[in-house]
Amino acid sequence: MASDRATTHRRLERMDELVSLCARRGFVFPSSEIYGGINGFWDYGPLGVELKNNLKQWWWQRVVRERSDVEGVDSSIIAHPRTWDASGHTEHFSDPMVDCRACKKRFRADQLEDAGKCSAREGSSEHDLTEPRSFNLMFSTMIGASEDAAAQAYLRPETCQSLFNDFKRVREASRQKLPFGIAQIGKAFRNEINPRNFTFRSREFEQAEMEFFCHPSERERWFEHWRDERMKFHHDLGLDPARLRTRSHADDELAHYCKAAVDVEYEFPFGWQEIEGIHDRGDWDLSRHSEYSGKDLGITNPETKERFVPMVIETSVGIDRTCLAILADAFVVEELEGGESRTLLQIHPRLAPIKVAVLPLSKKLAEPAHTLSDGLRKRFNVFYDDAGNIGRRYRRQDEVGTPFCVTYDFESVDDGCVTIRERDSMSQDRVSIDAVSRYLTERVEPAA
Ligand code: ATP
Repeated sequence: MASDRATTHRRLERMDELVSLCARRGFVFPSSEIYGGINGFWDYGPLGVELKNNLKQWWWQRVVRERSDVEGVDSSIIAHPRTWDASGHTEHFSDPMVDCRACKKRFRADQLEDAGKCSAREGSSEHDLTEPRSFNLMFSTMIGASEDAAAQAYLRPETCQSLFNDFKRVREASRQKLPFGIAQIGKAFRNEINPRNFTFRSREFEQAEMEFFCHPSERERWFEHWRDERMKFHHDLGLDPARLRTRSHADDELAHYCKAAVDVEYEFPFGWQEIEGIHDRGDWDLSRHSEYSGKDLGITNPETKERFVPMVIETSVGIDRTCLAILADAFVVEELEGGESRTLLQIHPRLAPIKVAVLPLSKKLAEPAHTLSDGLRKRFNVFYDDAGNIGRRYRRQDEVGTPFCVTYDFESVDDGCVTIRERDSMSQDRVSIDAVSRYLTERVEPAA
């Protein structure tokens, strides 16, 4: 209740606490659950889709809208198959895979500790593994009725290749001059050998990617610019700075065309893991697509008449992985003075799925409380709840990260005021009903 104070406070320790909250409260749960699920595929429920949309909108706002030098697109998931020859995916996008002859499971050869777990379970100390074989991670499909090889296509394993395919068209249509970028958010598909760690490694996921094209003399400057910008974004999302770091790739980790690469990593309960990559890809992409399409994607400097292929700085963030980091970071269990405990998600108000819950103290107050919530609904995602004791209703909102609860009580009828309770501090303000919308706007939509 209102007088509760937290005595202790602990963070997420095991992923299963989060997995169970996500399923129970409708954030994320297995796809096709009634059929037993399908490994590596997840559905976002009513709260999960709000969180994800809020994240995507924030990214779009920051990377596309607030800048005059980045254009957005939304390209098709299936691209011309030559795209993947040019990008190198048909030939190289594979993981070494081994099969365990005993348990029949398949593992990535570079993640053999999993195979260790399998043999331990089987009670054997020896791995009975096949030799590593290369396994292409692209999902293939057929276009049209014919089943011949010419009709074979792929679900994109990353969203960025269409940004290169569209480079010339977008540059001309938008009349952008170098340096400028093209961005999009969309689904990508990888037939991962071992999907795991909840949504962290899935077979269908969303990426938000941006390719920034610049003159060769400016590549270092733009790489540093985007590395700093992207790190700032993750801080602004409210992720604990102690659990965020950048990791530069060593020279032997870099793809041959890559001059520099930095991962943004978050410390999950299962360790430090990549959530975003920032890469200096040189002129590899546009040169390869020029070669494979036969269309020259180079640019002429109008003043010097110099002809060159633009360099590319890429930023590539996983939306699902970032949502997972946000949820894992926000999860807190507090013991309260009264002996009760509460679970709360300390999500940034801008990301919170529900911004405000309207809670009449009694069902008799339903009518004016509905009028209030219907008014707020035009602007915020509102949850209305008039069932059960008020303490329990607060707890239900805390657990899904709702930053504010508005309580309509018997005095509200006379004084035209309501009580607004804040999630983290549990502090309460008495606010005039006319001022509620402004009060919330100032707190859930802070200036970017
Ligand atoms: P990993 O090494 O973890 O497989 P990656 O280096 O192959 O990732 P990229 O190809 O750089 O990843 O993809 C960019 C971003 O897309 C990653 O930082 C991640 O957030 C997201 N991503 C990649 N693969 C997956 C996946 N299987 N499930 C969820 N998100 C993914």
